[in-house]
Formats: sequence, C-alpha cells, structure tokens
Amino acid sequence: MRVLAFALLCLVAIPQDQKEPVRTADITVRGLKTTDFPRIKKLAENVYSYEQIDPTKRVVTVNNLIVVTTDGVLIAESQGTVENVNRLVADVATLTPQPIKYVVIGSEHGDHVGGIEAFPKTVAFFASASSAPKLKRPAEAVTEQRKVLTMGGTEIDILNLGRAHTGGDLEVYLPREKILFMSEVFVNRVFPSMANGFPTEWIAALRKAEAMDASWYIPAHGFVDSAAVLREEERNYRLAIERVMSEAKRLHDSGVPVDQALERADFGPYAQWTRRENNAAGALQRVYMELEGKLPAAPASAQSIQGRWKLVAAEDLRADGTTARYPWGRHPVGSIVVEGTACYVQIMSSDTPSFSSATPPPVEQMKATLLSSYIAYSGTCAIDEAAGKVTLKVDAAWRPDYVGTEQIRFFRFDNGRLLFGPAPHSIRSGEDRLSRRLTLERVQ
Ligand SMILES: [Zn+2]
Repeated sequence: MRVLAFALLCLVAIPQDQKEPVRTADITVRGLKTTDFPRIKKLAENVYSYEQIDPTKRVVTVNNLIVVTTDGVLIAESQGTVENVNRLVADVATLTPQPIKYVVIGSEHGDHVGGIEAFPKTVAFFASASSAPKLKRPAEAVTEQRKVLTMGGTEIDILNLGRAHTGGDLEVYLPREKILFMSEVFVNRVFPSMANGFPTEWIAALRKAEAMDASWYIPAHGFVDSAAVLREEERNYRLAIERVMSEAKRLHDSGVPVDQALERADFGPYAQWTRRENNAAGALQRVYMELEGKLPAAPASAQSIQGRWKLVAAEDLRADGTTARYPWGRHPVGSIVVEGTACYVQIMSSDTPSFSSATPPPVEQMKATLLSSYIAYSGTCAIDEAAGKVTLKVDAAWRPDYVGTEQIRFFRFDNGRLLFGPAPHSIRSGEDRLSRRLTLERVQ
C-alpha cells in the first residue's frame, strides 16, 4: 500500500516539478491570480519566503524572508501598505508562536516601507545609515559591511554589498542555510528599475553576491522560483543591467540626447521583461548621469576601509598640493588589507633595477637597495570610519623598532579610491614638511 502510494505520488509530483515555470515577473503571464497570494514557501528548516501582491504594481510580487529562531523572528524587508504588513504579521503567527523581534529594511522605497508603522511596537528595525532617517519608525543604522546577529543559535548577517537600487541597499545572509535575501539588488525578470540606482556599483554588488557561498538568491520582486532558476535569473538580471549600461554608453558616446535614447536603444532579449515600458527610460537616463559624473558621491558613512586595496600611487605632497617626490618611484606596488580588526600594509618599488646574475653587485649593496624599496607591517587595528582614522598596534614589521608601537594613519575616499597616509605635513624633507599620500583601488 505504501509502495503504491509512493508510486502514485511520483506520477503526480514529477511532471509537476519538472515543468519549467514561465520566466516572467507578471502573475497573469505565470497563470496566477491575485487570490493565490500571499504565498509562503519553506526554503530551509525555519526559513521561509513570503510573496505578496505589490499594491503599487499589482502584477508583480513584493517579497520577504522570514527567519524563525528560538529567540524570536527576523523578517527581511517590510511591505508597502498597512494592510499588507498586518497580513504578514498574522501569517508569521501561523508559522511560530515566537514574536517578531527584528525587521531589516533592505529597500527604503515606498512599495517596501509604506506599511512599516503597522509592525508591533516591540519590533526593532535595522536600515542603512542613509535609509534609517527616512523611515516612519526609528531604525538602528547599520554602518558595517557585515553586521552579525545571533538569534537562538542562528547566525544572521546583515550585509552592505554597496550602492545598487536605492543607494541605501542592505541584504540578509544566512551562512548555515546558504540563503541570501538580495532586497531590490536582485529582482526576478522585472526590467531593471534604475532611476535611483548606481549602475557601476550595482554590478559590483551583484558580482559580490555571486561570489558568495549561497544556494538561494531571493529577490525583493518577482517570483521565488526554485533555487536553480533564481541562481540563473540573478545572473540574467546582472546581464540585463549590463545591457542597459552598454546601450546607454553607445548612444551617449554617439551624441544621442537622453530624451531620444529610449527609441534608439536595443535591449535584445531583455526588451520582453515585465515593466520595461515603466523602467527603461529612467534606467537609460541614470546611466547617462553616471557617464556625465552627475551621480551623488557615496557619503563617507556608506564607505568602508574594510577589504583589500591595491596600491596605484604613492606621493609626498607639498603644502600647495604639488608632488615633491615619489618615495617608492613612479610605479609602486603593494596592498593594504583590512579584515575586521586585522590590518596589513606592504609597499614596494617596482623601479628597483633587477640584479644581473652575470655581474651581481656586492651582497650588502644589493640588500640595502632592496630594503630601501620595501616596507611592511601588520597588527591589530582600531578603525574609526567616521573620523577616517586607523590606530594600528604593530605586531610584525620590516624594521624591529616598529614592533610594539602604535601607528596612526588617516584615510578618506575619493571617487571610490582610498587615500591613506600618516598625519599631514609629518614627513620631513630638508626644510620642507611633506604629506604622504597613498592612493589605492579596491580589489573586487
Ligand atoms: Zn520595490
């Protein structure tokens, strides 16, 4: 009997599972009705996705991630209306008696935060530093690139992968379950909505997500399809943004005015995506703005020294800003790595002559030349991102007298580059006081 029941189940279930869903974000094209929503899908033990009809767009869904722990519930993203939030809160109560403890705001846009006031008063909110002040409920600003919460033994990481759809984007990652809720950084099969976005940084954020150990990429809009389909569609979404960017650049470079760009653009396969007619003009316009340098620079609070940086220039500057000298030659190489509270600095000159093996110089002379072209030190560092200050307690260094000292360095960001160095005017050169400036680029 059991064997028969299993066989029957297979007969019914397998064709259903193997049926490829229509790749679309539109519920009518998918063959669904508004009454099919909200939909809850179990992604892992105690982790669910929630798809509700977006009240502003009607034909697409707006999604949440629900994480149930023994220490309360965390929800990624809100909903756009009080009615939708009330329904979400009621539906969570059918999954668990645990209270909703946290809501992480990944997108500050109205279709996601419009109903935020309907959450119980006991709920605490997290949002990026730029989104937090815009919300109707107080929210703790997440300034780190990765904020780790542990709730009843479940690790939940709030990530800042960089500016993308709103500029205040946050994502939620469950390392054990390998689930990444992408907020509006990834939208499944909706034509890219880029009117408030940061195209180049957005692509970088998507690439960072793709490099992560994730089985599930959950979008903020569009269907929560199978893990395999979503993985594919996350990459398709990046390709769609890249197509918008390459088309905008082609038209911009050939002198087509922005108001004529839409009719001249060729979006290829992405032209069929849901809401192209709503989103395409704004997307092209935004890329034009980026090409013309008109996008707002990232606020210092949204940037972080955390990560790996590659040296591209090293200069000693006079008070008037002109370059007095190049302390490691014109082509220095090296890197700065900041991982949590560990810092590594190394700088080398690539202009050092290579020593001929036929007529090697005296060993001592060779060593002196090499040593004067190289510095390296590392240790525990305290980082004040707001003040742009690193206090590094040196535990290993190329010169022994550095070990055990505290080295203070200052940094700021300029167009995505990191400018790093000791206190201004601290380098002596005869009568002059020079300011050392290292320029570095982020290694993606
Ligand atoms: Zn949205």
